[in-house]
Amino acid sequence: MLDKRKFYINGEWVSPAKTNDFEVINPSTEQPCAVISLGGEADTQAAVEAAKQAFDSWRQTPKSERLALIEKLAEIYQARSQEMGEAISMEMGAPISLANTAQVGSGTWHIGNFIRAFKNFEFDRPLGDHAPNDRILYDPIGVCGLITPWNWPMNQVTLKAIPAMAVGCTVVLKPSEIAPLSSMLFAEMVDEAGFPAGVFNLVNGDGPGVGTQLSGHPDVDMISFTGSARAGTAISKNAADTIKRVSLELGGKGANVIFADADEKAVKRGAIHCFGNTGQSCNAPTRMLVERSYYDEAVAIAKDTAEKTAVDVSSKEGRHIGPVVSKLQFDKIQTLIEKGIDEGARLVAGGPGRPDGIEKGYFVKPTVFADVNNDMTIAREEIFGPVLSIIPFDNEEEAVKIANDTVYGLTNYVQTQDGAKANRMARNLRSGMVEMNGTSRGAGSPFGGFKQSGNGREGGVWGLEDFLEVKAVSGWSVE
Ligand code: NAD
Repeated sequence: MLDKRKFYINGEWVSPAKTNDFEVINPSTEQPCAVISLGGEADTQAAVEAAKQAFDSWRQTPKSERLALIEKLAEIYQARSQEMGEAISMEMGAPISLANTAQVGSGTWHIGNFIRAFKNFEFDRPLGDHAPNDRILYDPIGVCGLITPWNWPMNQVTLKAIPAMAVGCTVVLKPSEIAPLSSMLFAEMVDEAGFPAGVFNLVNGDGPGVGTQLSGHPDVDMISFTGSARAGTAISKNAADTIKRVSLELGGKGANVIFADADEKAVKRGAIHCFGNTGQSCNAPTRMLVERSYYDEAVAIAKDTAEKTAVDVSSKEGRHIGPVVSKLQFDKIQTLIEKGIDEGARLVAGGPGRPDGIEKGYFVKPTVFADVNNDMTIAREEIFGPVLSIIPFDNEEEAVKIANDTVYGLTNYVQTQDGAKANRMARNLRSGMVEMNGTSRGAGSPFGGFKQSGNGREGGVWGLEDFLEVKAVSGWSVE
């Protein structure tokens, strides 16, 4: 078993102030694969203090030097990508092929996009020709606490740590205690790249411990959080006393609106997307809304797709899906599947229990419910497992109404070959992102949600701005 008890504080790997061991469980085997420490007050304090001390000099480091360090980090991330894939696969159960491609690749993609956005970002701008002596300066906000989840570990860490450090902030990262190994490897990479001591710090811990200590800390200027709405609420409340900025990326219950004139691959594509990463994506299209004239056919395609979705251990190469991350998640998903049946949804594929022939590990059957109505629990709550709910609709207006009838508003999806209808839908859907006809968003596009999906926008230029204060200066001397 790996011994990963240390924290990365002020440029060094240090032992926790007090022993508090916590086992990282491999979800395919249910066996511990590493032991970490859960930090306490003294560890959080040491990390925040290091970040605070480093801030003044880091914010004044020329942009070109900060850029060079980020570029170096990008090279190291690339060179050690296989190690990263293995860490992610082991800690959260992504099949190794998915871990090596999409999981690790999301980090590569974000780092590259931030480098491009950062190179072109003007930190010092005129207000406009009408006010020649006014200047707008963008300043780093200060010490940032970064709190991340387990489902796309490097996606989240790079979306926060890279822009924060690029613009001149210093950071304390608290990754998910369930999947901390990839973040510890990322800390090794930061160290190898040669960032000054204190710019990046990592303390492992849980929500009630290090998470709460960071959100309430008077010397932390901002919390950038990705995770559940429950934790987002707790963080916002705890951060309120010190008026720190809180950027939230929370859950989703995305609608995938499939009109009868959708392309023939739309339903299969939507089901595969829903089951991808074993359903553990905040932007998963978990509610499939299908126009009634195409409904029966769509249900049959979704059923077939679920039945053809293989489930296997994460260490095996291939296109199967892995286990869900933990016993807690497994039990929650089972309860929700039972609830779907009890509330009258029609189970057409999968269902309760592990897939046939699998006795160990947190494996869930790829599951499809038809005849779901939007008031059922499975249509309202984020399940975070490979469970698809299919809901019929009669016309465009009703589709928009059902899609928007949720507390969330992260990503919605539209499938139709009628361009004008697709664009109308995009305007009417209340979500931070709308993806149409299987076209993924472009490089540097902002990621974030409306309503209870959060208030931040990560990625590209918006991701840099998240970590900046805007300073308005008048009487600026023009040479
Ligand atoms: P979680 O909220 O339980 O934990 C996320 C992180 O917050 C962990 O590091 C955890 O230790 C910490 N935490 C928990 N309670 C806290 C508290 N009171 N104070 C401070 N920190 C606290 O979420 P999870 O189970 O790790 O992740 C799944 C959730 O994340 C889902 O709801 C999913 O939709 C969401 N998510 C959102 C996005 C997005 O960008 N919108 C991306 C990925 C995941």
